Amino acid sequence: LSGEKDNLNSSDREIEKALRPLSFEDFTGQFKIVENLKIFVLAAKKRKEPLDHVLLHGPPGLGKTTLSHIIANELEAGIKITSGPVLDKPSDLAGLLTNLEEGDVLFIDEIHRLNPIVEEYLYSAMEDFRIDIMLDSGPNARSVQISLNPFTLIGATTRSGLLTSPLRARFGINSRLEYYDAKLLTDIVSRSANILQTPIDEVAANEIARRSRGTPRIANMLLRRTRDFAQVKGNGRITLEISKMALDALDVDENGLDEMDNRILLTIIDKFRGGPVGLGTIATACGEEAETIEEVYEPFLIQEGYIKRTSRGRIATELAYKHLKIKPNYGGGM
Ligand code: ADP
Repeated sequence: LSGEKDNLNSSDREIEKALRPLSFEDFTGQFKIVENLKIFVLAAKKRKEPLDHVLLHGPPGLGKTTLSHIIANELEAGIKITSGPVLDKPSDLAGLLTNLEEGDVLFIDEIHRLNPIVEEYLYSAMEDFRIDIMLDSGPNARSVQISLNPFTLIGATTRSGLLTSPLRARFGINSRLEYYDAKLLTDIVSRSANILQTPIDEVAANEIARRSRGTPRIANMLLRRTRDFAQVKGNGRITLEISKMALDALDVDENGLDEMDNRILLTIIDKFRGGPVGLGTIATACGEEAETIEEVYEPFLIQEGYIKRTSRGRIATELAYKHLKIKPNYGGGM
């Protein structure tokens, strides 16, 4: 999942950029977060102060990067973009920070993957807009203090559980993005099709939406592939028939679940008779980290009603059996 962005070829990347909403008005869904951000942005502008630091968390492809660009646009500020793993040394961070203009946004993607030494430097930068840099080493070592222009840090993470508490405490605004329902995704698909100048039937947009795992990035990707089918196998218009043909050819799950989703459900049902079974046990059986299952996979499966969380562990619902076409065998066996 985390590698999705890297799998895009350059024309897909161009299209993804073109489809990105540029203002709060263009951004579909996440209403509560957007309403709050609008107020915080307006207030900061009124006071002529930088916006408080923002932490955006949630699964990949839900709009964290998009929202960060929008925040910068709405603040009429510049934005510099980097990511946790790229900031290898304190000097990398210092270079970025000293180049920020007053009120700029610094966006750090995958902020849970910051090198701990770099993270330490970030604390004073966030808190007091200054950094202490060590010059030289050994007997000549000395530290100099550099003051920075006030800025807003926006951190994005798919794994908020991995954030250290001192870092988390330095964000004044903390928002969790939720999966999108089919109605919102249908709107997003229709909007994207419009930008791509591809005619699409509402039922076809809904079919793509329904099978996109609640994720705009996946919806846009499936739209692009469906458009290919419409242009080669049809007359260019995305109809329900074309969308079904394309999604089946692409092996997209009937309900938009991905391979790991299905593996989790099958594990609970097949190996643990439908549960209840603990998260750690599921994780081991699926070969995935428990935290990743908890923060990335489970929220979607729970939201869509495939699993339930109980005090004794996770259980598969009737819907999960139906989806996997397995007959429930409650109370059977032992
Ligand atoms: P993240 O940073 O959370 O991984 P992105 O912000 O990169 O996700 O979003 C992925 C793609 O999905 C973007 O190119 C954008 O076009 C689209 N997208 C995300 N959220 C929305 C939304 N609310 N409305 C319309 N398009 C969206």
